[in-house]
Amino acid sequence: MAYIEPAPIKDKENPFESMMSRFRIASQHLNLREEIFNVLKSPDKQVIVSLPVTMDDGTIRVFEGYRVIHNNILGPGKGGIRYDMGVNLDEVKALAAWMTWKCAVVDIPFGGAKGGIRCNPREMSSGEIERLTRSYTQAMNEVFGPDTDIPAPDMGSGQREMAWLMDQYSRSRGMTVNAVVTGKPLVLGGSLGRIEATGRGVMVSALSAMEKLKINPYKATVAVQGFGNVGSFAALLMHERGSKILAISDISGAYYNEAGIDINQAIEYRNDNKGILHGFKGAEQIDSDDLLTLPVDVLIPAALEDVITMYNADKIKARLIVEGANGPTSAKADDIITEKGIMVVPDILANAGGVTVSYFEWVQNRLGYKWTRERVNRRMDRVMMSSFNNVYKTSLKYNVSMRIAAYIVAIEKVASAYEYRGGF
Ligand code: NAD
Repeated sequence: MAYIEPAPIKDKENPFESMMSRFRIASQHLNLREEIFNVLKSPDKQVIVSLPVTMDDGTIRVFEGYRVIHNNILGPGKGGIRYDMGVNLDEVKALAAWMTWKCAVVDIPFGGAKGGIRCNPREMSSGEIERLTRSYTQAMNEVFGPDTDIPAPDMGSGQREMAWLMDQYSRSRGMTVNAVVTGKPLVLGGSLGRIEATGRGVMVSALSAMEKLKINPYKATVAVQGFGNVGSFAALLMHERGSKILAISDISGAYYNEAGIDINQAIEYRNDNKGILHGFKGAEQIDSDDLLTLPVDVLIPAALEDVITMYNADKIKARLIVEGANGPTSAKADDIITEKGIMVVPDILANAGGVTVSYFEWVQNRLGYKWTRERVNRRMDRVMMSSFNNVYKTSLKYNVSMRIAAYIVAIEKVASAYEYRGGF
């Protein structure tokens, strides 16, 4: 098969360091007290568990599981569980801190958390993954809870795992507790609108930014890296609003059509072809790296971290970057992008539509009520637009990039909660 290899990652940064470097800059702008800085840089709780699991062949394997609650001053910890061989404490700590900032930016009453299990779910049977998930849930029985820490899916996990997690937790409590986890199947209390929420939030952020930059959505050209959940919904919704999607890509390569790609056709093709675009005829194949440097108005990285780096940042021609993925721009590329005058809607704002609708899922579970898709979408759009405007105003006030402004908004909120609550 003629797959194009993904570009080598040349300045992959330690995720915790990358988060800290932005946190440090924003704290300086805020003149944050050193004591509060020290509190916020240290996670509240770090739990590491060993998980013995009987494999299908009868052997017992021990997996390592993590849960980090970075901060819960604004509410219960919130964040996904990653199933991946690369999971390690530093990564989970960084992702947990990102969740604190993300929830604060969109003003939802959650703190930040993240979990992970070091495993390769692609090599495990469904029964093995179920036993592993139940064992992890049992080990985190005192950590998880609808008022303490609410997990969700992340890389390698989905609604199937969340259903097992909810069931295991509910058994230990002797009743159904669906608010302990979000991203559940609809029938178990999942929310309408959750699947498309992150891509929809990316679209809303993109339109808000285009208005500021005076880019007409009907004349705008767009390139989207990644055609999974986030990228394909973002592309579809931008396409429906009149923008021309010139390029899309996934693990199988990048696809370009000067006249604009028919996104419905691309989604249908992907769904019929094992989830990838390999062989898609609605566009010509181009080099994957070139997608990032196409002369388009809007670039949406929605696949991996550290794809815009100090090595390619100066070649980027888009006027606007909307970060669907977490951490697609390395900290070292930030200055180059800012100097070029490119606006970046940063990950902790642009992809926060997902956690916002997770919050709505939790609210519906607690109310014992179901909202319509229209209500979910309307409320999410409102949250995303007002968060965008707040970050934009902050970027003007402090004369900083949208990324640093988003950190300023988040840190200010969390720090002021500490100032009010005190109690050290
Ligand atoms: P996904 O697994 O559904 O899709 C990932 C896509 O990226 C796939 O199309 C895959 O083929 C593609 N891809 C992988 N390697 C690539 C490469 N080298 N070049 C181009 N494309 C490549 O994942 P997702 O849920 O869409 O998540 C994408 C990003 O968005 C991740 O960074 C994730 O952390 C972030 N994110 C997701 C959500 C959510 O609700 N799903 C919320 C917030 C942030």
